[in-house]
Amino acid sequence: MSKGTSSPKAMRNYRFRIYPSREQEQKLLDWIETCRKIFNTAIAQRKESWEKEKRSLSRREQQVWLKEAKKENEYFRQVHSQVAQEVLFRVERAFAAFFRRVKNGETPGYPRFKGRGRYKSLTFTQFGEGKGASFQDGKLKLSKIGLVKIKLHRQIPSTVKTVIIKRDAVGRWWAVFAVEIELSQQQTHAGPAIGLDAGLEKFAALSDDSVIENPRHLRKTEERLKRAQRELSRKEKGSRNRERARRKLAKLHAKVRSQRMDFLHKQSRKLVNTYSLIAVEELNIKGMVKNHHLAKSISDAGWGEFISMLEYKAGEAGTKLVKVNPSGTSQECSRCGMTVPKELSERVHCCPYCGLTLDRDVNAARNILKRALALEAA
Ligand SMILES: [Zn+2]
Repeated sequence: MSKGTSSPKAMRNYRFRIYPSREQEQKLLDWIETCRKIFNTAIAQRKESWEKEKRSLSRREQQVWLKEAKKENEYFRQVHSQVAQEVLFRVERAFAAFFRRVKNGETPGYPRFKGRGRYKSLTFTQFGEGKGASFQDGKLKLSKIGLVKIKLHRQIPSTVKTVIIKRDAVGRWWAVFAVEIELSQQQTHAGPAIGLDAGLEKFAALSDDSVIENPRHLRKTEERLKRAQRELSRKEKGSRNRERARRKLAKLHAKVRSQRMDFLHKQSRKLVNTYSLIAVEELNIKGMVKNHHLAKSISDAGWGEFISMLEYKAGEAGTKLVKVNPSGTSQECSRCGMTVPKELSERVHCCPYCGLTLDRDVNAARNILKRALALEAA
């Protein structure tokens, strides 16, 4: 990574649809399958070494193995060498995460073998002219695959470091470019401060009394998704109708996801452009999942994803994102500070001490802002 006094950097992903020819697609699928085998073998080696000798194999040792294995295995040789090597980095990361959890006193399962269809992408670890992947004549050039048609619908702002090629559930192919960008943290932002609370029916409540609604087209697609799920469960197993229903469901899933991402990107962009400080609750998503009601709203609204988008967009725009302790934000009166207990079903905050009457979530959003400003002042 870079040294010196230059401004802080961060990695960003830019995703573009690609259109491999039939022949190219077959090659990519073969590579993915071969990489899956390398992955599973490498996992098995590490598992065995740990169980038998209580010793962790290093990536370097596995690279030596891969180099030897290539001599005997024609399929291993067909995959671009960087792409094959990168698989061992994935294995290394999986085991690092495993040992981190062991160290934390948890009892995680071993990194898992990937079944057919569970391994979905290839990574070219070097990008640029003469490297494994590059741009040429408006196309994406992948070494040993060829020139692949790509729809470059927006500009990539900086130098590409790596590119991941992947296929989604409905068979579309994507290129995800990892780009290093500079964060301009010194930039000042003149906008006001705002508190944000995740809503149940609405997407979010703001401390200035406004709300962000869930977009209607997204709700509609989600309704269609629910219907498609019911339809699928009624179809006979193994029938052609079931296959058709399954494909329809997968398409709707992809559509909901892309509509949601689009919505989250637009909203987070708008917020960081408007406000100099954005206050949100520090969310413990894992703890939330135990609570059925909240779990639904959080997973539906993609709140966690939203926070991370806010986080990186805030850095670029010179906005401050402040996370506060979430405990009691909905029970506290945002005017007088007294505790006003209420059930989740009570949608209005009505304070018996000072008389403040306010939408429950807006009251919470105001508390969130208050806590953030207190943290900033400290
Ligand atoms: Zn009050």
